[in-house]
Amino acid sequence: MEGLTKIAELGKPRVVIVGGGFGGLQLAKELADAPVQVVLIDKQNYHGFWPLLYQVGTAGLNADSIVSPFRKILNEQENFYFRMAEVRCIDPALQVVETSIGQVRYDYLVLATGTTSNYFGDKQMEKNSISLKSVTDAIELRNTLLSNFEQALQIGDQAQLNSLLDFVIVGGGPTGVEMAGALSELRAHVFPRDYPELDLKQMDIHLVQSGPVLLKGMSAEASEHALKYLQEMNVQVWLDNRVTSYDGYTVKLKSGENLVARTLIWAAGVTGAPIAGLDPAALLKSNRYQVNEFSQVAGYTNVFAIGDIAQMATPAYPEGHPQVAQPAIQQGRLLGENLKRLLRKEPLEAFEYQDKGTMATIGRHRAVGDIILFGKQFHITGWLGWLGWSLVHILALVSFRNRIAVFIAWAWNYITQDKGMRYIIGKPKSPLKEQEVETKAIV
Ligand SMILES: Cc1cc2nc3c(=O)[nH]c(=O)nc-3n(C[C@H](O)[C@H](O)[C@H](O)COP(=O)(O)OP(=O)(O)OC[C@H]3O[C@@H](n4cnc5c(N)ncnc54)[C@H](O)[C@@H]3O)c2cc1C
Repeated sequence: MEGLTKIAELGKPRVVIVGGGFGGLQLAKELADAPVQVVLIDKQNYHGFWPLLYQVGTAGLNADSIVSPFRKILNEQENFYFRMAEVRCIDPALQVVETSIGQVRYDYLVLATGTTSNYFGDKQMEKNSISLKSVTDAIELRNTLLSNFEQALQIGDQAQLNSLLDFVIVGGGPTGVEMAGALSELRAHVFPRDYPELDLKQMDIHLVQSGPVLLKGMSAEASEHALKYLQEMNVQVWLDNRVTSYDGYTVKLKSGENLVARTLIWAAGVTGAPIAGLDPAALLKSNRYQVNEFSQVAGYTNVFAIGDIAQMATPAYPEGHPQVAQPAIQQGRLLGENLKRLLRKEPLEAFEYQDKGTMATIGRHRAVGDIILFGKQFHITGWLGWLGWSLVHILALVSFRNRIAVFIAWAWNYITQDKGMRYIIGKPKSPLKEQEVETKAIV
């Protein structure tokens, strides 16, 4: 291990938080008035609002509208220290974490590292598909999407043309459904203006879902409406089907059909992003840490895990809480209070998840939501659902600047049916080689 990193010792207990996502950031804020030093370590220098990532990937929003630098969010919090580094290993005996910039000592360690894409061991899929887990992924998707259309203008061969214009999305959860809706809106409103030389009837959008319904985990009403909306928007939905292989061109389906697409978006699952060093018995098959009702990792009293990386089995959630933002935020908030209680030597409070419901938007005036109010579930769809979804997401953004930026982008999009962020900055996933692009005369 390398030497200790240069972080001032304040003579106060040090809480090291690994990961500044929804859980880690909430915890750091909660500890503002605690007699502790808060050290947040993240491999990125910003907090990302992932529910709107697909809009960056489909040219609806600029990346900087959905991210905020940690130093800006917490620069007024006196006990807050940030280090941009990757945490690689934990030594619980020495109470240090090994990072890409050296060791960091802790008194209390909180793991809030979230998840990564799960390809279920399919290396070819991992290599050839585009996932949606980071800003880099979203920008790569946008570059690929727009480059495909630029290249399509130069292609005469029909099969090659189809491979550029067709898109396959794997996974019918909220990300897959929202992505399919956004691509369909581009096809209906934006691309006809940008590419009048192309026949957009040839642009096919396929959504492949392994189970019998979309939006598994939401109500039957929400699933049915999502399917209806996507069908109205000419998205081809393949239920009870699976992609068995993808070589970057041919998509083989379990049902026997082959699709042809140079772009496959992988939204089919996530797995925990644990860090080596803790007792392997604490890590469950799901790659999530087993935690108790106080978020303590099994076998430790000063190591905690919150959010997507934590699996807290309760009678209502025997397999752990859903891997969405609210459990992470609520666990971060309670752990902040519990750490203060721990320092005051008071009993800790057990976590109880307050489910507020789930929403997904499919396109303009089309959204579904299962909302829980006063202990009762309400279903909203259509225009009301879409308005509710928009409001909830604007309010949930971390900074005022981002709220304004997103509001303006959406208002502009609503009035003009335009998506203004159609830049190709950087490279697409797999650009066509020069010899693959025929030179078609411009007529
Ligand atoms: C595309 C997409 C759409 C989504 N849509 C929704 C939605 O509509 N509604 C909803 O509720 N949820 C949604 N989610 C899920 C939601 O974003 C997660 O449940 C939530 O982010 C979990 O919060 P977290 O704090 O556990 O982890 P995250 O928010 O994922 O944060 C983890 C942080 O840890 C950092 N990190 C990881 N490993 C290391 C390491 N070794 N060293 C240093 N730093 C590290 C990462 O850089 C990251 O900043 C979506 C997720 C994605 C990807």
